[in-house]
Amino acid sequence: MKRLIACFLFTAVFLTSIILIPNNQIAFAAGKKVVVIDPGHGAGGNSGYELQSPDSNITKIKDGGGTQGVATGVPEYAVTLKVANKLKALLEQNNFTVIMTKTQDSEAPGNIERAEVGNNNNADLVIRLHCDGIDNQNITGASMLVPAPVGYASSISGVSAEYGQTILDSLVASAGMNNKGVVQRSDLTGFNWSKVPVVLVEMGFMSNPQEDRLLNDDSYENKLSQGLCSGIVKCLNKTKLGWNQNNVGWWYCTDVDNGYYYTADNGWKAINGQWYVFNASGYALENTWYTDSNGHKYYLDSDCMRVNGVKDKPRWMHINGSDYAFNEEGQLYVDCTTPDGYKVDKNGVYIIDKEK
Ligand SMILES: [Zn+2]
Repeated sequence: MKRLIACFLFTAVFLTSIILIPNNQIAFAAGKKVVVIDPGHGAGGNSGYELQSPDSNITKIKDGGGTQGVATGVPEYAVTLKVANKLKALLEQNNFTVIMTKTQDSEAPGNIERAEVGNNNNADLVIRLHCDGIDNQNITGASMLVPAPVGYASSISGVSAEYGQTILDSLVASAGMNNKGVVQRSDLTGFNWSKVPVVLVEMGFMSNPQEDRLLNDDSYENKLSQGLCSGIVKCLNKTKLGWNQNNVGWWYCTDVDNGYYYTADNGWKAINGQWYVFNASGYALENTWYTDSNGHKYYLDSDCMRVNGVKDKPRWMHINGSDYAFNEEGQLYVDCTTPDGYKVDKNGVYIIDKEK
């Protein structure tokens, strides 16, 4: 068993890790998860109206335009887009696919339109970036809004709240700001139309002169985006006990805390009555042949399961245009007559008997 490394927060750490550890241990970073970043608001707002939820008849304005800095005069949409671009770069360094709902200050799509970006891309997470404003200049800090079980969001409110807490804690630790907690909201159009996990972070108050200046400070924006990124990595790069899947394939974790998983070193493994074999990187072989050290050939099917028959009754399998037979131990019959009376050649291919 090998040790699976944890997630990488920054490129520097990532590159160092590549140098220090064998290649097979970074394989699981290869699967790409999709994060949609939604930078709040746009210049001029959007005066159109839209339904607050698919199951309500309340309508709300598409974009009221957001707040602006009490000290700097900078509009909220400028801050959210800047942090969004920084977050996008960091997430891409961490091997996520990132999709933005908007890339220009001038764009002000409605909330349903923004939610559809997450839905259409089957995002693993949508993160909406906002800044707060209130008529009390003393109030500071970040809060995380998450969907109540309303509209399409009914099924994703639990996981969204879990992600929201992790990301908020990480943000607050990175930027060193006041933590105003996680708040469940049933009245946000962008939540109620979401079919995928979604959170909305209020990154601080533009109505507080100090926090306004910080929100417009490049190095502080770096801290914000780094905090958000490491929180997202924590949420989405979780390995669970047992089977896990990413875009590369399946692996089997035997110890979450220490990051142990099966590899080729473990040979055949029986899991729930089926036999599997793993490659050096820890992925279960899938849709492929495998030859053991004794020269026996096996086939692993599309579920990574060893194809096998029962005693005296081979299992026949059509693979790439030819038919093959496997015994009760999954070994390919070669150059013989199978117990059910068919001839196979030295490659195990069924020989069509033209006289029959
Ligand atoms: Zn806002």
